[in-house]
Amino acid sequence: MVPGMFCPKCHSLLYRDGDELLCRKCGYRTKVKGTPVKRIETRPKEKEIPVFEGNLDTLPKTKVTCPACGNDEAWWFMRQTRAADEPTTRFYICTKCKHRWREY
Ligand SMILES: [Zn+2]
Ligand SMILES: [Zn+2]
Repeated sequence: MVPGMFCPKCHSLLYRDGDELLCRKCGYRTKVKGTPVKRIETRPKEKEIPVFEGNLDTLPKTKVTCPACGNDEAWWFMRQTRAADEPTTRFYICTKCKHRWREY
């Protein structure tokens, strides 16, 4: 129980319930102030794979194994990802299933 915390609706004393304060009278709930917010995941966000707009047949092909279907040939193109601090990345498009992935 946090002293001095009262329900803004009915002014009853709020009770601690996990990381929330609960009013037992009217059911009002509020997050406890100062409770650390769920930590933001530090892993890099999903890598974006741009859609290639244009004729795939104009793209160069290379021998690379498609992670989706196992085909061993894919078109490839270079593209800057949205994150400006990333270098230009090579992207592949499977010639068989059109699966897209990026080179890491
Ligand atoms: Zn209340
Ligand atoms: Zn494929």
